[in-house]
Amino acid sequence: MLTNLPNEIFFLILCQLPSTQLFPILSTCHKFYSLTVEHNNEAFWRCLVYTKYKLSYRHPSLSWYQLAISDTVGQMCPHLDARSHDPWHQPDPDRFFSQLGFVFSHLFKLRHHPAGDPPSGICCSSAYQTFGICLNSGCNVAGCGDVFFEPQKHPGHIYQHHQSTKHSVVLKISDLTFIELWCYACNRPLGYWGSGERNSLPASEEFMVRQWIQYITWSLNTRAMDSSFTAHHYLRRQWEQRLLLSKAQPPRFLLDSRWFYAWVHYLSTPTADPPSFPAQHRLFLKQGLSSANESLINPSLKLNRHFVLVSCQLYCYIQRIYGIDGPTIHKGTVALHTDITIIS
Ligand SMILES: [Zn+2]
Ligand SMILES: [Zn+2]
Ligand SMILES: [Zn+2]
Repeated sequence: MLTNLPNEIFFLILCQLPSTQLFPILSTCHKFYSLTVEHNNEAFWRCLVYTKYKLSYRHPSLSWYQLAISDTVGQMCPHLDARSHDPWHQPDPDRFFSQLGFVFSHLFKLRHHPAGDPPSGICCSSAYQTFGICLNSGCNVAGCGDVFFEPQKHPGHIYQHHQSTKHSVVLKISDLTFIELWCYACNRPLGYWGSGERNSLPASEEFMVRQWIQYITWSLNTRAMDSSFTAHHYLRRQWEQRLLLSKAQPPRFLLDSRWFYAWVHYLSTPTADPPSFPAQHRLFLKQGLSSANESLINPSLKLNRHFVLVSCQLYCYIQRIYGIDGPTIHKGTVALHTDITIIS
């Protein structure tokens, strides 16, 4: 019966189905299976992902087909745009970095003189500790943000900017998380799902966010040593030292020890550069894309020699600011997959 349907109608039916049912339905009909899956029709899948979810981006190692049938595609932010939110192709990167510099210097001054005047470029003399920079292509408006991400209670200028322009994706700079991407339309941080313990995270959204964080941290490290650079490192070290020493959460997540010791060196040495991202592949014999279940953990790992254990809070921070290359492994995953015994 399906075979008699015109292609356009069949496409609309597929758009109505949950992502996990696409493959089972297609495999019952030879004509459409051959048209879409067998011929690796990426244009078709790209169109389906866009029509159904309004998504224009994906992780480079996923095909549009893999994204369309993944169980996380429906959770991704549709306001991120592959073209206009590409950090490496901004129309005016100098303006972006000068806005970022204003915000860092302002936060730095707030620490020392809470009642001081804001520098030019900052919207108002608010003592908010959160700022946002609009990431809409070519916009880069900077403004004070809401407190603890509750725009209804404390609307700041960057939230008003979102309401009047419908620009949704913002770089937030705050004491709480240092820097992160926030979507006002989805009302949540991007590329970050809280606990860090779930096995399947939308790898594509995480990838888009990581592009930004790495672009910013890389550029600040290579740009001239001006006052915004100093303020950036001062604030960043302060925040990371507090996270390292915090005993609020038990250490449960495995982190490559080589990276960890390089990071501790950065925190304790004012002239040191921050390390790049932790390459967790050392901890695996075989590595899947995003889930520890698809990977094989090396059974001969030794605590403190190959890996250290960190809290969820610290792990999530490192994941966002530095980007972690590889799936998340916590003590629970290790117990399921290998014979490693962790004494902590
Ligand atoms: Zn969104
Ligand atoms: Zn804007
Ligand atoms: Zn303001």
